[in-house]
Amino acid sequence: MKPTALVAGNWKMNGLASSQAELEALGNYLRDGDTADCGVLICPPFTLVASFAANAPEGVAIGAQDCHTNKSGAHTGDISAEMLRDAGAAFIIVGHSERRADHGEDSALVCAKAEAVLAEGLTAIVCVGETEAERDAGKTLDIVLGQVAASVPAESTPENTVVAYEPVWAIGTGRTPTVEDVAEVHTAIRGALVERFGEAGNGFRILYGGSVKPSNASELMAADNVNGALVGGASLKAADFNGIIDAYR
Ligand code: PGA
Repeated sequence: MKPTALVAGNWKMNGLASSQAELEALGNYLRDGDTADCGVLICPPFTLVASFAANAPEGVAIGAQDCHTNKSGAHTGDISAEMLRDAGAAFIIVGHSERRADHGEDSALVCAKAEAVLAEGLTAIVCVGETEAERDAGKTLDIVLGQVAASVPAESTPENTVVAYEPVWAIGTGRTPTVEDVAEVHTAIRGALVERFGEAGNGFRILYGGSVKPSNASELMAADNVNGALVGGASLKAADFNGIIDAYR
């Protein structure tokens, strides 16, 4: 059975208390439009998780963008999955390429973070994706499947883990792979999940991310084994994000 889709917004390091207005506007779109045949998630920066979770409109889940591997302790500046659960987060993104690049996170660390998310009963969104040089060298599937194997925990199930394929070169650039290229990578990820988890592998949601916008969402979301989107820039404006959710209406 095809998994229920998820459209997730990754606000990255954007958003102030005044951004609550965009959350409310999104709630209005969802209420006034047809019921979307997908889950809707907003992952604001840590500072807004608690207030967004307390004020989330119906049909909008709130998540976070990273967590530490430990529950608590002497880790100045870090935030644990337990703290995020306590603040009302239901999902936590781990292994985003900006964290892999800016903070030197490797797949073993990403896997440990995902395990911390699962241990709190939350859902991990595990990000994978190749750089432009890796794609040009014909290594896309090797890199992506290697990251999936090493970053997705053994305890993962379709309920507690989502995989997000985000080609690094497509993030924030306005460039996207062809629909055929997206389908090829997603189908390969699906195959790897089935090989590892058996029939359950068919139930995992595999999101596409990287320059998703209202104008390209329908074709990208229709590609084989694409079960939703992880959206950066276009998730900051409720109208744009709603336009992407439209792909599932
Ligand atoms: P983008 O970012 O939609 O701005 O390309 C996607 C992401 O990094 O999750």
